[in-house]
Amino acid sequence: MDFISTRGNNDKLTASQAIIKGISNDGGLYAPSYFPNITNKLKNFIDMTYSEIAFELLKEFLTDFKVDEIKNCIQNSYDEKFGYKNAVNIRKVNDSYFLELYHGHTLAFKDMALTIMPHLLKTSIEKIGINNEVVILTATSGDTGKAALEGFKDVENTKIIVFFPEDGVSAIQKLQMKTQKGKNTHVVGIRGNFDDAQSAVKDIFSDEKFSEELLENGYVLSSANSINIGRLLPQVVYYFYSYINLVSTGEINMYDKVNFVVPTGNFGNILAGYYAKKMGLPINKLICASNDNNVLYDFFNTGKYDKNRILKLTTSPSMDILISSNLERLLFEISDRNTATVKGLMNNLNSQGYYEIDSNMKRKLDSFHAEYSNEADVNSTIKNVFESFNYLVDTHTAVAYNCYKNYVQKTSDNTKTIIVSTASPYKFCEDVLKSLEHDTSNLDDFEIADKLQDLSKVKIPDSILRLKEDEIIHKNISDKDKLKIEIKKFLKV
Ligand SMILES: *Cc1c(COP(=O)(O)O)cnc(C)c1O
Repeated sequence: MDFISTRGNNDKLTASQAIIKGISNDGGLYAPSYFPNITNKLKNFIDMTYSEIAFELLKEFLTDFKVDEIKNCIQNSYDEKFGYKNAVNIRKVNDSYFLELYHGHTLAFKDMALTIMPHLLKTSIEKIGINNEVVILTATSGDTGKAALEGFKDVENTKIIVFFPEDGVSAIQKLQMKTQKGKNTHVVGIRGNFDDAQSAVKDIFSDEKFSEELLENGYVLSSANSINIGRLLPQVVYYFYSYINLVSTGEINMYDKVNFVVPTGNFGNILAGYYAKKMGLPINKLICASNDNNVLYDFFNTGKYDKNRILKLTTSPSMDILISSNLERLLFEISDRNTATVKGLMNNLNSQGYYEIDSNMKRKLDSFHAEYSNEADVNSTIKNVFESFNYLVDTHTAVAYNCYKNYVQKTSDNTKTIIVSTASPYKFCEDVLKSLEHDTSNLDDFEIADKLQDLSKVKIPDSILRLKEDEIIHKNISDKDKLKIEIKKFLKV
């Protein structure tokens, strides 16, 4: 297995090289050189734990890792840090299945990959024998930042710097990041939105002069965003695990097809589902659910990607994104890996904020269906799901469930469907409580959480309770064009 750039500079990297590098020098993302087909192995997965399935899948991609290295990485990740033995929980609600991916430390699905990625990176560094310290640069719309900070906290030979939109995350998300412990962590709020943060970080990665300057001081840059293949591959696992779980509980028969509905921002999560399908998992449709920032809805329905619009701040901030980076990896596949085409489209996106795919590529989008939910739909979905089924969902999961309802209404498809649930309702407790038509105006975040607990009888996660006592450590705020200065300050370069 090699990893190759979507923009075709003939890089052929091993998994560990690609994980360390993060993004290719030509600005492209690394993709696996082929998709291993595991259709015939699916039946062996029955009765396997989450960790065992993770091993079976990761070993297909991490071919330069030793068996024990992969097993160690997995063992150190999917352990008691998660509230469930198998890291995730699946809840049947009204004939749908909610795949709860938010039982890790930071209460969002980002933990699924960011608990293991630091171990993959550390192992990669040891294998290759680099003497430099790896500096993880991460732009976050809220959840990646905290999950990456927790994952990399005090990991030897690494430092982590997180940039988040100061006014674009929930109160709990902000508190989670600003109280981050660990001597190798640095958190900076920026005046700007997530796209600003992500573009600035991507520019830094392609600034060779800056990289050289850091290298002279013993630092190499890498990324914990889902542009890093080490982040994406572990996300393939829960698509397989949830499918197998439905087979072993008798909800479906082996090789029946299922749909997945994925609340989408940077297109990393749903891309992992597409990779799972390419590997032979019986998936009918991947339903791409957007909020009011519905660039992807337009793209799937028209073939035109147009980011020339105002970014709206919604109650699902982790999806407030207009440039979905991982779509580049999908373009790579649907163009039959034509790197010149991908490069051309990405150049258009950079220069004009726009591109359009041809009819051949458009036909290959048939694994997907796209919908979006407006803010009123999100509110009423949270309320209806709670009142009808006594089940509390967060704002992002509500986007997904409402999109699923729209999909069924349009298509009458009755394929069994898994709703990918990406965050705990407590992470966005103010908007969740408001949706249940409770006044939150005189309450602080912890009082809101208490009230939500009284209503729902779902226990407040310990990691929220601990925030109450934690000291605010990170107070930096920066302009979006001054991130290099922030980096140098922290690294003392
Ligand atoms: C990151 C995130 C998303 C979007 O996932 P992508 O991989 O960026 O598409 C959705 N919901 C929550 C809660 C998230 O943290």
